[in-house]
Amino acid sequence: MNSTRTDAVRRIVVVGNGIAGQTACDSLRAAGFDGELTIVGDEPHPAYSRPALSKALLVDGGSHELASPSHGATEILGVAALALDTRARRMSFDDGSELSYDGLVVASGARARRLGGPDSPELTLRTLEDALTLRDRLATQPSVAVVGAGPLGMEIASAALSAGCEVTLVADGPPMRVHLGPYLSAAFTTAAVARGLKLVDGTAVGLDGPHTVLLDDGARVEAELIVTAIGDIPNTEWLAGSGLLTDGRLEADARGRVAPGIVAAGDVASIPTRSGVRRIPLWNSAIEQAKIAAVALLTGDAAPELDLEPYFWTEQFGLNLKAVGHLPAAGEPEFLTGDRPEGPAVMRWTHEDGHAVAVAVNQRIPIPKLRRMASASG
Ligand SMILES: Cc1cc2nc3c(=O)[nH]c(=O)nc-3n(C[C@H](O)[C@H](O)[C@H](O)COP(=O)(O)OP(=O)(O)OC[C@H]3O[C@@H](n4cnc5c(N)ncnc54)[C@H](O)[C@@H]3O)c2cc1C
Repeated sequence: MNSTRTDAVRRIVVVGNGIAGQTACDSLRAAGFDGELTIVGDEPHPAYSRPALSKALLVDGGSHELASPSHGATEILGVAALALDTRARRMSFDDGSELSYDGLVVASGARARRLGGPDSPELTLRTLEDALTLRDRLATQPSVAVVGAGPLGMEIASAALSAGCEVTLVADGPPMRVHLGPYLSAAFTTAAVARGLKLVDGTAVGLDGPHTVLLDDGARVEAELIVTAIGDIPNTEWLAGSGLLTDGRLEADARGRVAPGIVAAGDVASIPTRSGVRRIPLWNSAIEQAKIAAVALLTGDAAPELDLEPYFWTEQFGLNLKAVGHLPAAGEPEFLTGDRPEGPAVMRWTHEDGHAVAVAVNQRIPIPKLRRMASASG
């Protein structure tokens, strides 16, 4: 590590108390930073596992807690960054306070996109409060319409069915097809329908009051509870006057660097990928980005470039999927164990560029072993 660079940075502020912000704090300490470290988050409680909200917490009240941090950062919670002045290296917050920094980590994540606008009656699932509200509502067993057939919409639909609700999923195309590919999409759809999920193929364009989803062909889907899972929006508004945004996007280089003394990591950041500069809003991606960005803040070019080995998992409709490598997967898989997509099985697809993705369904397998199975293709 370049100690001169590290010594020049004595006061670091991390904005965003999610997994990217927390990982950045841990990584800064691991890289030898012993200066003043402050993490600011607008949620009022300690960092938690967001993926657990739609899995453990929603399904059976399971834990969403993360291990207590040991980085010793000063935590300022329930306070939002409002504006950043990069010249003065200072930012202001919604409680009237200001902080100056030598180094800044932007880790402000993303929020749920809403179908009906900011004040619409739909429920979304992004925060702990969202999950607790949704869990309470599902316990009263309303009929539910879920809009959005990505992994999150499918997990919500699965949890609602498990709670005893009648569930309709409004799907703009086969569920999770763009995420997983047609083969796995079909397997998960079969499992979902077998458990009682009603599928409506259509594009939702809006809401008509609290109980009606409007589709683009004029059809209406009625339910007592509407939950939307139609993507996320990066939290970049507080950077609007900073000069850091390009067409509203916060673009970082392969080391997470945005500007001198400023790095970004996690759902907020657009990063170079093999399919262009874009966000990869996944848990593992946030962790790996934050590790690199923290080192880059201290050591610049001496930090390694991000070399993301994609990892994805989902639990829904009795299926537990883990995937190492790039999804979606085209065509039929090679079965490494088992012979049915609903498992227990490990499947592998080898992409045209020679890279492979290994997918375990209902098969207990350590991730390093799954990684070896992906890299042993060809
Ligand atoms: C329900 C759910 C299930 C998921 N399941 C999976 C899964 O199975 N697998 C997977 O890989 N990924 C999953 N994800 C995605 C994963 O959780 C995210 O990619 C990850 O949490 C991103 O971490 P982050 O720290 O970048 O952002 P966030 O977790 O969004 O954290 C950012 C924090 O910054 C705060 N903040 C925002 N603006 C400001 C501001 N101006 N000032 C101060 N604080 C601010 C936010 O409120 C938030 O607390 C799931 C997401 C959700 C919502």
